[in-house]
Amino acid sequence: MNRLNSRVAVITGGAQGIGAATALRLATEGAHVAILDLNGERAAATAEQISQTDAVVAAGGSASGLVCDVTDEDRVADAFQQVFETGGRLDILVNNAGITRDNLLFKMGRADWDSVLVTNLTSAFLCAQAAQKFMVPARYGRIVSLSSRSALGNRGQANYAAAKAGIQGLTATLALELGPFNITVNAVAPGYIATAMTAATAERVGRTAEEHQKATADRTPLGRVGAPEEVAAAIAFFASDDSSYVSGQTLYINGGAR
Ligand code: NDP
Repeated sequence: MNRLNSRVAVITGGAQGIGAATALRLATEGAHVAILDLNGERAAATAEQISQTDAVVAAGGSASGLVCDVTDEDRVADAFQQVFETGGRLDILVNNAGITRDNLLFKMGRADWDSVLVTNLTSAFLCAQAAQKFMVPARYGRIVSLSSRSALGNRGQANYAAAKAGIQGLTATLALELGPFNITVNAVAPGYIATAMTAATAERVGRTAEEHQKATADRTPLGRVGAPEEVAAAIAFFASDDSSYVSGQTLYINGGAR
């Protein structure tokens, strides 16, 4: 399926986890993907691996890695300019970069509140602003952001839940503002996906990744946790023209849990 032939996509935090799986998926559908990540070496290595994947080569897709702290407005502007100059267009933005700094309210320091809000929410605002500069004149764009099931409330995640609920409000609002320019804006809200982020959470609560995953799987209708590729598949739908009349939506990807 080459739904993204010749499209140019930016994926933030794409060096690993859900972002890397999404970069691979979009490139497999023919897109040229720029991975923006704090860790430039890992971004370049992931991009190299993706570019050499047989399915990506067959689809005519590619990937490149760029170091970029997406909380830094100037770095974001520079990176988007570079992607546009290299690719000649900018069609797709996936706001994926995110962090957790979990703690109960009475123990959560101001620094952990601020860093989670800035990395998960302000970065999406900055990147959407940088992307629309190229999307509006082209009268085309697809913006997909990572919310989370935690947006509905999750003990120990006041900062993260607030940021991810904020993503849903940002998404609904940008869909209104950018719709007249043929730009769709949607979000995905995954439940438990097995990545370095959830492995770190397991360690923090004194469990192995397997024990932690099993506890979540036991209360999930599908009886398991999710894989990054399953989130990437939904993002690819929102990034493609198969979702051309879908905007302002948040799709929960959580194995049927309520
Ligand atoms: P990972 O921690 O595996 O990957 C996140 C990536 O984002 C890392 O490569 C990280 O780089 C990068 N990153 C962090 N801060 C910045 C920054 N300021 N600028 C650029 N890149 C940055 O996370 P996941 O793959 O698990 O999660 C991806 C997204 O999905 C996040 O937004 C997360 O909140 C969301 N999500 C994840 C769920 C899950 O269960 N895993 C569930 C719901 C939502 P580095 O490692 O160098 O810091």
